[in-house]
Amino acid sequence: MLTPQNESFLILIADDDAFIRMQLRLILEQEGYQVTEGVNGRDALMLYERLHPDMVLLDAIMPEMDGFECCVELQTFSRSSYTPVLMITGLDDQASVDRAFAVGAADYVTKPIHWAVLRQRVRRLLQQSRLHRQLEVANQELQRLASVDGLTQVANRRCFDEQLEHEWQRAARSQSYTPNGSNPLSLILCDVDLFKQYNDTYGHQAGDHCLQQVAEVIAKSVKRPADLTARYGGEEFAILLPETNSLGAGWVAAQIVAQIQRLNIPHTGSPTGYVTLSAGVATIDFCSEVCSQQLITLADMALYEAKQAGRNRVSTHLEIKSSMTQPTPKTI
Ligand code: GH3
Ligand code: MG
Ligand code: MG
Repeated sequence: MLTPQNESFLILIADDDAFIRMQLRLILEQEGYQVTEGVNGRDALMLYERLHPDMVLLDAIMPEMDGFECCVELQTFSRSSYTPVLMITGLDDQASVDRAFAVGAADYVTKPIHWAVLRQRVRRLLQQSRLHRQLEVANQELQRLASVDGLTQVANRRCFDEQLEHEWQRAARSQSYTPNGSNPLSLILCDVDLFKQYNDTYGHQAGDHCLQQVAEVIAKSVKRPADLTARYGGEEFAILLPETNSLGAGWVAAQIVAQIQRLNIPHTGSPTGYVTLSAGVATIDFCSEVCSQQLITLADMALYEAKQAGRNRVSTHLEIKSSMTQPTPKTI
């Protein structure tokens, strides 16, 4: 059946028999599929990598690399889990059929080919793989929605908690590989200053808009792929900076505080006349005796210190090691 949908499917045929290839091409093209051909397993792998077909029809016995070997290799390509392989072969003994499924074939038809059956199998496998992909895309979107804060579009608290644990474990694993055993993990906790008053003066909607602008500035200030900006709660944001020492994290925090002020969002209740932000920075030079929650406690203490010292500033806890001594925060 010639449908515009079928035309978007590319099917790779690998068979050393030119006559079978021609027959397969004809019947598949009649159905409206696009077809490409290889003469052995090696050929098929090369074409697969280059053209990313939607399905592979594989002969079992071919020179150079047979269909079983080829099928094993195909499974190692990340895309291939959604690309069904249909084995077409003269081998119909139980061991061959078992082997075909064991190496990852989605289905199996024997020669001489029953063309009506082949058409239906191809159609069904393509439908299944399309559904599989759609499901995968929907799942990814669900996962994204589950980890993003609806108002500000940065990561939500749940995502932050997960990421903090993940980075903590990663630091634990990689600690033994770093030459000096140093593996700092930094956290910045930011809190919008006098935000209750902002809401009281300008209304909750304006408050929401302000939070969106603040989140955008923060998200743009962190550049490395492993860095994470999250809404920690209400008008508080958390920035997780793996492999960043307190000097680096303090610099990032100072940039953020300065940029928020530069937004020039009017706030009559603020001493500066504009919306400002306070930030607390904590860094742990990783060691397993310290738990991840202590990093939050230290950043929170530093944030409190920044508020106490007059807001619109950064306060940093000095880098700590396993002894967990708690130095007085330094406000800059
Ligand atoms: P401080 O400088 O000490 O942080 O003072 P503050 O007023 O910012 O702190 P407080 O904790 O008293 O008030 C926080 C306010 O943030 C109160 C709450 O209504 C507001 N808030 C929290 N989440 C949201 C939100 O999603 N949207 C809006 N518009 N306001 C929010
Ligand atoms: Mg707060
Ligand atoms: Mg606040």
